[in-house]
Amino acid sequence: MTQITPKITPIYQTSVFKFEDLDAVQQYFDEPGSRYLYSRNGNPNSDELAEAVNRWESGAGAVATGSGMAAIFAALLTYCQAGDHVLCAADIYGGSAALLNLELARLGITASYVPFEALYGLRPYLQSTTRLLLCETMSNPLLRVVDLGAAARECHRHGLKLVVDNTFATPALTQPLAYGADLVLHSVTKYLAGHSDVTAGAVVARAAEDAARLRQIGTVFGLTLSPMESWLSVRGLKTLRLRVAAHCENAWLVAEFLDEHPAVAAVYYPGLPTHPQHALALAQGGGRYGGMLSFRLADDAAAVNRFMQHSERFPFAPSLAGVDSSCSHPLTTSHRALTDAQRAELGITVGLVRLSVGIEPVEELLADLAQALE
Ligand SMILES: *Cc1c(COP(=O)(O)O)cnc(C)c1O
Repeated sequence: MTQITPKITPIYQTSVFKFEDLDAVQQYFDEPGSRYLYSRNGNPNSDELAEAVNRWESGAGAVATGSGMAAIFAALLTYCQAGDHVLCAADIYGGSAALLNLELARLGITASYVPFEALYGLRPYLQSTTRLLLCETMSNPLLRVVDLGAAARECHRHGLKLVVDNTFATPALTQPLAYGADLVLHSVTKYLAGHSDVTAGAVVARAAEDAARLRQIGTVFGLTLSPMESWLSVRGLKTLRLRVAAHCENAWLVAEFLDEHPAVAAVYYPGLPTHPQHALALAQGGGRYGGMLSFRLADDAAAVNRFMQHSERFPFAPSLAGVDSSCSHPLTTSHRALTDAQRAELGITVGLVRLSVGIEPVEELLADLAQALE
């Protein structure tokens, strides 16, 4: 028979695997990892993705999930059951807040929100049932940077686990487990896959027993990822280092350009020396600051509409992290569900525009912004 030795892993587009006999199925149960049974439990493509993200984050094991939301759900369930309480950074991804407020509350897992300034002094927020703190390395849309080492020490002092959503920073900038986080999760949909063509997630554990829990939760709740989406994510991940370097370089130049533009009232980018956590971002990102930034136009929907209508290189597409640039509007998309008071507290007004800076030639991006802001 012709020997087939593909250079890369083919797509194992199969829901189930064959066994020769009873001994073979026994081997599956006796020797974990020796064979595959059923793709929801494990598939060569989703395992390859989990292993690749695990390596990037230097973890003890990982699970690939059907979305970033599934990753957040799996991470919370690793440590929580009915009756438990979680702490959550106040400027968290809107979907995380919706999961906590609308669904997990109904199942008896309650949440309190901790303002950014209070993340290193959790005592006032603790209950006897508090299990963990969920936060993001860099927040959306103001790119506030959390001191992960300080947050991990504060959590562990109170017997809490630290769960970090590292979607915005990526492990190419920051590896939260190295700072003491217990779990790190991703919307693989964003930078890890990187081409705006996949919905996927992943969670990585620092401890082997947590990794085993994650895999069980993924299988039993049916949160695991399909072979095709896993394969596309693995392909994207191969260029993560190169893409992130290009995103960071371009975003830095775009941030400097906007910072000097008369139509722009403020720019939120950790790479600017005026950013409140600039020094922390410098240390935690190894001298790079990511591809995301926000800026403030006049607080007037007409001004925002004019910008959106005139920009050709930053289409209004409420996601992020693709190789092609895009823009989003936090007030009307990601932060729509917040109360007026929460929005006022965070400074999310109609004039706030978020850019996901892609890897195009930067002169083209700057020229487009110049004409759109005119
Ligand atoms: C997009 C996003 C998520 C959710 O991921 P999905 O893949 O859309 O389910 C979670 N956290 C952050 C920071 C995100 O940007």
